[in-house]
Amino acid sequence: MDGNKKSLGDLSTNFWKSEFRCPCKKCRRKKVRVSQLLIFKLEMLRIELGNKPIIINSGNRCPEYNASIGGYPNSAHIPNPDGEAADVKVKGIKPIDIGLAAEKIGGLRIGIGKTYVHLDVRKPSPSRFWIYENNIIYSAKIENESLLKFYQIIKGK
Ligand SMILES: [Zn+2]
Ligand SMILES: [Zn+2]
Repeated sequence: MDGNKKSLGDLSTNFWKSEFRCPCKKCRRKKVRVSQLLIFKLEMLRIELGNKPIIINSGNRCPEYNASIGGYPNSAHIPNPDGEAADVKVKGIKPIDIGLAAEKIGGLRIGIGKTYVHLDVRKPSPSRFWIYENNIIYSAKIENESLLKFYQIIKGK
């Protein structure tokens, strides 16, 4: 091991299982399961954003924890068998700009929140993009091809 190098994550170069663990007490010793495809996309996103660290706000969620925070019952955060979602943020980059970078990478469903972005690798049915705004979720139909266009419509720009 090269002592001068930052150690690698245990999921990939930059990601650790501990970052994806369900935060509830019951899951403290539970195995963390994250889709390899999602991790690959997150590594690509990191490069796309200039190699800035991606902070994982929420990765795996057990059904109980997911329900307790008002998540969708069928959330991609719930491992089945792998967790397929991550809520992320990047210091100094606005959620919409993270979303647009994720759109460029492709193969991701993208939800734009006020302070974070939800990303998952589930098949896009029925929506591929959504935007959380003042407690309302706006979702775009699968045939809506542009996140930016959708965002501008919601924001009234
Ligand atoms: Zn849990
Ligand atoms: Zn999420």
